[in-house]
Amino acid sequence: PQFSQTHFSAPKPPKKIDENDLPMSPEEIALLNKFLHNTVNLMKDEQIDVRLRQNDPQSPLHSATSFRDLRLKSEILHALDVMGFVRPSKIQEFALPILLMEPPTNMIAQSQSGTGKTASFALAMLSRAVPSSHFPQCICLAPTYELAVQIGEVVRKMAQFLPEVKVHYAVKNNGVRAGTKLEEQIIIGTPGRMNDYLGKLQLIDPSKITVLVLDEADVMIRQQGHQDLSMRIYNAIETASPGVQTLLFSATYDQPVIEFAEKLIKNAVSVTLKREDQALPNIKQYFVECISRDGKYQAVVNLYSGLTMTSSVIFTHTKHSAMWLADQIKMRGYKVALLHGEMPIPERAQAIQDFKNGVYKVLITTNVCSRGIDVSQVTIVINYDPPVNESNSDEPDYDTYLHRIGRTGRFGKAGIAINFVDDERSLQLIKKIEAHFGKPIPKLDPDDMNALE
Ligand code: ADP
Repeated sequence: PQFSQTHFSAPKPPKKIDENDLPMSPEEIALLNKFLHNTVNLMKDEQIDVRLRQNDPQSPLHSATSFRDLRLKSEILHALDVMGFVRPSKIQEFALPILLMEPPTNMIAQSQSGTGKTASFALAMLSRAVPSSHFPQCICLAPTYELAVQIGEVVRKMAQFLPEVKVHYAVKNNGVRAGTKLEEQIIIGTPGRMNDYLGKLQLIDPSKITVLVLDEADVMIRQQGHQDLSMRIYNAIETASPGVQTLLFSATYDQPVIEFAEKLIKNAVSVTLKREDQALPNIKQYFVECISRDGKYQAVVNLYSGLTMTSSVIFTHTKHSAMWLADQIKMRGYKVALLHGEMPIPERAQAIQDFKNGVYKVLITTNVCSRGIDVSQVTIVINYDPPVNESNSDEPDYDTYLHRIGRTGRFGKAGIAINFVDDERSLQLIKKIEAHFGKPIPKLDPDDMNALE
């Protein structure tokens, strides 16, 4: 592949953020991250620092380096084998002994997407659920239907040798009516519907609940609607079942959220797993000069075969350019997945799922839409448009840049970030990014393109 364009067009006025492209909600971001991480190996341990803050001096603190060190049912151990879980991830190593100990202990846990949180609380629920008791015992709240389903799938896989253990989804329009007798031990759902289950539908006896999980806890607490409902559910259960084990899991917590959570959940052990390295290790960054929008498109076409060798994400500034680019590429008979804020949720979920499953190797998504998305299994990131500060489009959005590319190439593979530059302004943005992170962003030499393949 060759780049023929090496000249800039006349400077264009900075592009406006596309007002029609709604920013993704935190729920949607959480969902997307979930999909993206389901196929990924776990994060490398060396970069991780686990902090345990123990509020309860009684809690024994030890780490479990093997699942067999834990008091897990043999059927669950068997399932873990089948699932290829050889040993606990870092967060699991520290969280599981606490999650499984007696008496049940509350936990507020934080670690990035893909580190094994879902698996941790799924194990906690499965360990506490009594298979022979056919009524709801564990409740897990997630911000969206799709996230609830993701969790349910993990639980079901882990329960594959526990045929009596069943999962029920408490989500909108599931057709469940008052008077239904729920036999499932594990109920996973959204706060609104779960609140109905506990309240007007009377489908769950709160006094029988032994575990309450809030996944994506920061989303649940930050957003007023979710927060009110989650609080109501928590209060109902805590009142009826004072010993309930309450577990909050999240990839991030804002300070006010963590303060709120700590006040709410009494005697919770905090488990925090932070990645130390905020630099951009192991990632080759480049920029590519393109003369115009068409030039950028041409560059994508030139790169296409390289992009499809692995998973790639292309970030554009607006929904329109994302759609335009996707159409152009599709017209050439290539396959790409498209994701923007105006697509209906099922379509988005499908796009993500297809990307995750490798049906599409290339995902085109908007800047706005992608904020917060964690693309760690992606090896090539293309900044079709550089990420810019919302209030001043002459300033790069460094966090977004770091977020997008800082997690590629984590698993030994070299990650590659390619920044498209089509005018003086975008070139200056890249220069600023280069200076900010102190890592060179050389111009990509067309002869070097083999490096991508
Ligand atoms: P999170 O909830 O933090 O995003 P998950 O629990 O979904 O992370 O785990 C991310 C991926 O890693 C999933 O595909 C999951 O099946 C897998 N996984 C989790 N724990 C382990 C483990 N101990 N060994 C191997 N794979 C694991």
